[in-house]
Amino acid sequence: MTGADEHAHQSSRFEWRELGPIALVGVAALLTWLRLWPTVAGFDALPVAATLLGSYPIFRAALAAVLERRMTMELSMTVAIVAALAIGEAFTALVIVFFVLGAEVLEGLTVAKGRHAISYLVDLLPRTAIVRGLGGERETDAEAVAVGDIVVIKPGGRIPVDGTVVAGHSFVDQATITGESMPIEKTLGTSVFAGTINHSGALEIRTTGIGRETAFGKIIEAVERAEQSRAPIQKIADRLAGYLVYFALASAAFTFLITRDIRSTISVVIVAGACGIAAGTPLAILGAIGRAARLGAIVKGGLYLELLSRVDTVVLDKTGTVTFGTPEVVAVFPCAGVSAEELVGTAATAETRSEHPVAKAILKRASEQSINTETAEAFTYTPGRGVRAVQAGEEIRVGNRAFLAQHQIETSTCAPPPPGLSEVLVSRGCRLLGSLQIADVLRPEAIEAISRLRRMGLRTVLFTGDASAIAHTVAEQLQVDQVAAELLPEDKLARVNALMGDGRVVAMVGDGVNDAPALVEASVGVAMGSGTDVAMESADVVLLGSDLLRFVETLQVARTCHRIIMQNFTGTLLVDGVGIALAAFGYLNPLLAAFIHVASELAFMLNSTRLLPRGSSLTPVVARASKGTAVSSPWVGPATESRSP
Ligand code: ADP
Ligand code: MG
Repeated sequence: MTGADEHAHQSSRFEWRELGPIALVGVAALLTWLRLWPTVAGFDALPVAATLLGSYPIFRAALAAVLERRMTMELSMTVAIVAALAIGEAFTALVIVFFVLGAEVLEGLTVAKGRHAISYLVDLLPRTAIVRGLGGERETDAEAVAVGDIVVIKPGGRIPVDGTVVAGHSFVDQATITGESMPIEKTLGTSVFAGTINHSGALEIRTTGIGRETAFGKIIEAVERAEQSRAPIQKIADRLAGYLVYFALASAAFTFLITRDIRSTISVVIVAGACGIAAGTPLAILGAIGRAARLGAIVKGGLYLELLSRVDTVVLDKTGTVTFGTPEVVAVFPCAGVSAEELVGTAATAETRSEHPVAKAILKRASEQSINTETAEAFTYTPGRGVRAVQAGEEIRVGNRAFLAQHQIETSTCAPPPPGLSEVLVSRGCRLLGSLQIADVLRPEAIEAISRLRRMGLRTVLFTGDASAIAHTVAEQLQVDQVAAELLPEDKLARVNALMGDGRVVAMVGDGVNDAPALVEASVGVAMGSGTDVAMESADVVLLGSDLLRFVETLQVARTCHRIIMQNFTGTLLVDGVGIALAAFGYLNPLLAAFIHVASELAFMLNSTRLLPRGSSLTPVVARASKGTAVSSPWVGPATESRSP
């Protein structure tokens, strides 16, 4: 019953040894109560001896607290036990010891349950892997697999490493990572994740990450880090717990001064407890982070969980966040005297080094039409605008209108795209070559996610670097409260800052290099798992499955966690306040006081465990709406992304 520190270091295994003293104290109490033990010359030898023996660990913890100048529950209980003994109430002292020891064991078990959540996660990773080498297949330690090794996955097996499929075809259950219950199809070139379950087919994968470097390893690390990092609310909880003990002792002194009744005084000391908040708070946070991890949302610390619970504005990036970010080139408009091949080929030449979704669309189009790309040099990328490269001494630019206009290229000859389509313009030297029209597909869950956010009372905002027309089309489909287009990375940052300047708590969800500054500055930065590494590094929360509904559920988990902590706070204050008052007026005897103390603390501890993942079921506990929301999209092109992080 000390602060959370001790709990954090407690062993997770249940120690049967701990039951010894409790049994001893219990039996002694029973014998005393039944008067089966004779008093020796008016002295209760048995209860006194049992009390002193049983309370040894309590006294020791109390002494440690005194030396550290900390106020703990052991200390106040020591005061109560000594006081009870001093007035000859050995039986009362014995029962208090019994309750305190019992509560500590139960509490240890509750905390161990939290710890179990993590060891359980670790156990989901297979310990061995089958590696295909020169001498055929051999089984090795999963830790010994190297990046680049070919690992063979049998049907029904758990995947030991992160990798890319190089042969085979199968469906994989990724619930452990993304919370997605439907198996995902895996074919040549798709990614698979350690800790997920292969269904019917056999797969061969080229290893891209092992152990801690896998997506799954990062989940475990996030949960561990969350366990160690102290959320601000936890510090408040510890401080409040300390104050409560002082308050109880002061009330006791006051009670004694007024009533001169030592039994009431002892009851006052005993009734006040604060363990429900001191140890309950970290448990609730751990549970929430574990729960979020099951949803595929890695929360990088307790602080962000706390901030998430207070978020009132959600800013979303467009490309790659509310859309799949796997656009297709749907129309090509070369200027007079330019061939379609030349236009696409030139664009592809400049985009070879770019990671941007638009670049991938252009490169795909070029390869589909077997259009050759030249070797270029001096690649530069202006986030939110476009790319530039030099080929045969001429400068190629591919980007939005503003980007080309900035470099004195006349763009008015190019017609703007119809609603729902994006465009990129291509120039070579000082000449405009034409435009490419690009369609991206709205993520089917985006509409549902935004309507849920609005129902939760949150303000939704769409910020994009793309053109105004397409931004408004998307904003209308999603029904967001506010939209701003043609934003450079620094504009996104400035607008997020402005929102926060208005006193809003902002969650920014993004995927790109262009979102990174805003992700860092926002109250909580949230990166899509399908996004760039920079975005995932900059963010405080990573959505491995890139599923916006999961983000909404994570917000709800954070709110629940906050609510639990607040319930424990108010509940503790209420029980302690009422208890102290009753005890002071003589309505509680020390035994009843001890019972109320222990029972209420356990109730609050149990309340805190509500979010801890239960049992061995892998299915996420938060119910989930169907994903196939019909989208009346004017956008063409199939949703090609294989919906893997
Ligand atoms: P969003 O904010 O919606 O994610 P970006 O800021 O990444 O969009 O991009 C904004 C616009 O800049 C794009 O719509 C595109 O016109 C242009 N752009 C950015 N990067 C590139 C690129 N590599 N090639 C061509 N155009 C680009
Ligand atoms: Mg983006």
